[in-house]
Amino acid sequence: MRWSQTFIPTLKEVPADAEVPSHRLMLRAGLIRQLMAGAYTYLPLGWKALRKAEAIVREEMESAGAIELHMPALHPIELYERTGRRAAFGNVLINFQVARGDRKVHLALGPTHEEVVTDLVAHHVSSYRQLPLTLFQIQTKFRNEERPRFGVLRTSEFLMKDAYSFSTSLEQLDEVYRRQYRAYCRIFARAGLAYVPVEAESGPIGGSASHEFMVLTPNGEDVLLASDKGNYAANREKCEIGERKPNFEGEPTHERKEIHTPDCKSIADLCAGWPKFAGSKLKPKNTLKTLVFRVWPELTADEKKEDAAQLNQGMPVADWYFNWIVVLRGDHELNEGKFRRELQEIHLHEVNFVGKQVGLRLMSEEDAQAAGFQIGYVGPDAFKYLSTHQASHTRIIIDPDAAQSQFWVAGANKKDHHCVNFNWKRDCIDGTSFRHIMHVRDIRNAVEGDPSPKNDGGILHESRGIEVGHVFKLGTKYSEALGATFLDEKEQRHPIIMGCYGIGVNRIIAAAAETSHDENGLIWPLAIAPYEVLLIPLNVTDAEVMATANRYYDELRAAGVDVLFDDRDARPGFKFKDADLIGIPLRVVIGGRGLQEGQVEIKWRTAAEPEKAPVEAGVRRVVEMLAARRAEDARGVPA
Ligand code: ATP
Ligand code: MG
Repeated sequence: MRWSQTFIPTLKEVPADAEVPSHRLMLRAGLIRQLMAGAYTYLPLGWKALRKAEAIVREEMESAGAIELHMPALHPIELYERTGRRAAFGNVLINFQVARGDRKVHLALGPTHEEVVTDLVAHHVSSYRQLPLTLFQIQTKFRNEERPRFGVLRTSEFLMKDAYSFSTSLEQLDEVYRRQYRAYCRIFARAGLAYVPVEAESGPIGGSASHEFMVLTPNGEDVLLASDKGNYAANREKCEIGERKPNFEGEPTHERKEIHTPDCKSIADLCAGWPKFAGSKLKPKNTLKTLVFRVWPELTADEKKEDAAQLNQGMPVADWYFNWIVVLRGDHELNEGKFRRELQEIHLHEVNFVGKQVGLRLMSEEDAQAAGFQIGYVGPDAFKYLSTHQASHTRIIIDPDAAQSQFWVAGANKKDHHCVNFNWKRDCIDGTSFRHIMHVRDIRNAVEGDPSPKNDGGILHESRGIEVGHVFKLGTKYSEALGATFLDEKEQRHPIIMGCYGIGVNRIIAAAAETSHDENGLIWPLAIAPYEVLLIPLNVTDAEVMATANRYYDELRAAGVDVLFDDRDARPGFKFKDADLIGIPLRVVIGGRGLQEGQVEIKWRTAAEPEKAPVEAGVRRVVEMLAARRAEDARGVPA
């Protein structure tokens, strides 16, 4: 392609509202332009890079045995109602009504395609003989993201490779999952990305049933933790924490005292105000954070259909919920997923919870007051201040780091008051019957320095990443909701077992830009570079220079090299600046004294100095250098 005939609007100025390097550089290098928040045009250079990434994804999907199809982006809203995802997606699901004659049709723009593909399979697969089957597409998705940001890293319209597997058994599912996982490793390695697979929320099947693929970068939106032993990595939502021994036994040596702490409903307020209230400093890690949740057995779909009044007949409403007091060290954050799982297990055998999901929400100020809690000032020993009735419906769960017998600053269960020297043994356990309803569990987000859950002496370290892909064992959620079943050898009917596998194709490009650049511009990995070679004649008005440059352009293309020919009539310095900015891997310069001496200059984008080659040998040398680089890159791709 000749530069003069394509459209590469590079920018000299740094765009003011672009927060991260990839966004700045993709704008400046003329890859993308914003139409509105969350929607971008891919300009020719950006589009070429995207198409190369897409081709790698397609190739690897096909070698993993997935079959390509193409589904519509417009979906009937009913499908989302049948799976309950209309509510689950909420505002993220873009949907609207259109008029068709005198009818109104309610449509959604597909945020992903589980519903559509499952509906398809439900209609056309009925026997175990037709399975396993893995289908994929590379197609535009729509999500009304609350905060579109970071250029094409988070947009409301993006290109996703989405694959869906359909199996008759968990073993079959495991096998597809393994193949997809391996394909993902190959895709990201081939695209030149340094990626880390991390364990993610596992959903219905449990175990290591979900992995996210992260590209590490300080500007990533996701937090992941990895053990320094190299045998465990997980995202923050999922990350477990190694063994920490609780200790409630330490005897008190200081008196519990109340301190007046007006208008301090958060740990941050409390620590900020502490010098004024108590004349000393207070660190969050020396405080206990106490939260109160309302927890109830979620009704099953069938029960919801029944009359609620009838359901509660003869059963006092109070029996249907618990108050859970949650205690964490002040510098730690509750992990709601962990908390929910622990509750599920603890309540497993309670009459009203059998066979049900646990419902939970942070208690509202109203509920809390009615139950006798002092919101903002609740302490771990809050049950002492509740009515007998409420106390009998109250349980306490404590993170091991908070279950230590040191002295804590904690809520005093009295408006505008905290206490110093809270001691578990004296203030919660001795002389009460609470010990048996105190549960010590891992319920917080892991942080830098925590012990690895492998309990092998490994320490967890935190980093940030961009989620470029996600593989997930779905189970039968969609097949059950949409009636995708198969008959086994014995003519027994079962729901099909599914998996889903997504890759953000735009994020491959953006993650490459984010992690591979210098102060002058982008540095494309060869495999996804918009062009492999940038050919620069120094002076386009010089006939001899142009004769050689044109010959190079033709011969390189004939050799299958993807060349951009900078035929613009501009000063060399100007062209070199653009060359660095757009980051094409190999640059060939023709003209000047070099050409008079019968030489051309060949330079990798990252090399300090060019290599000189005789004019006659230059094309061959370029082809050779590209082949060597490709071979070297291929060595980094897992088998
Ligand atoms: P995130 O947590 O970043 O919002 P997600 O977990 O909701 O993403 P998935 O449903 O797992 O995303 O989609 C599969 C892949 O699609 C993701 O791994 C990511 O690479 C990509 N992706 C998701 N949302 C966006 C978006 N708004 N813009 C660009 N790519 C996206
Ligand atoms: Mg995801």
